[in-house]
Amino acid sequence: MAKLYFHYATMNAGKTTMLLQASHNYRERGMHTMLFVAGHYRKASDRGYISSRIGLEADAEMFREGDDLFDRIAEHHRSRTTHCVFVDESQFLLEEQVWQLARVTDRLDIPVMCYGLRTDFQGSLFTGSRALLALADELREVRTICRCGRKATMVVRITPDGKVAREGDQVAIGKEAYVSLCRKHWEEEMGRVRAEDFIGFAAR
Ligand SMILES: [Zn+2]
Repeated sequence: MAKLYFHYATMNAGKTTMLLQASHNYRERGMHTMLFVAGHYRKASDRGYISSRIGLEADAEMFREGDDLFDRIAEHHRSRTTHCVFVDESQFLLEEQVWQLARVTDRLDIPVMCYGLRTDFQGSLFTGSRALLALADELREVRTICRCGRKATMVVRITPDGKVAREGDQVAIGKEAYVSLCRKHWEEEMGRVRAEDFIGFAAR
């Protein structure tokens, strides 16, 4: 039985590299894969592709709000048997689109591997991630670490002038950078708590 997978992490954890490697493993065995990437922040005329920081790249179809992913995959599958579907930037899926992907696994028996961010820079779930956490058969955390060595589960947005953004749109299109942190250091960087206020609370 095919399954719907959600591989989630913070920024810079190597999710895209994992996706491209997994797709390559299918193709190496002569199987066909279909790749999707979010088209929300790309021009309609742009070529769709997925690229990772270590230089791997593959062509991909773009998904946008309003696309019925079940229909698109089913139509493609009719002309060319598809063995696995990969979705990068799956945090941008709508809830309905996650249901469409669930139907791809349930009705077409094709595994669907989604990769994406769990939370935004303010610590809230993305729409697609919320639905995937609810509906996926398998949840897999892609681990990366904070500067302190703890697991990084949160991300801060650094503005072009080097400050930590505390407000703003969920997605910024510009020269922002992102840093992955553990929850403790994220709260400090976001200005929600001050480390010095907790001195003396720990048991000796
Ligand atoms: Zn930390």
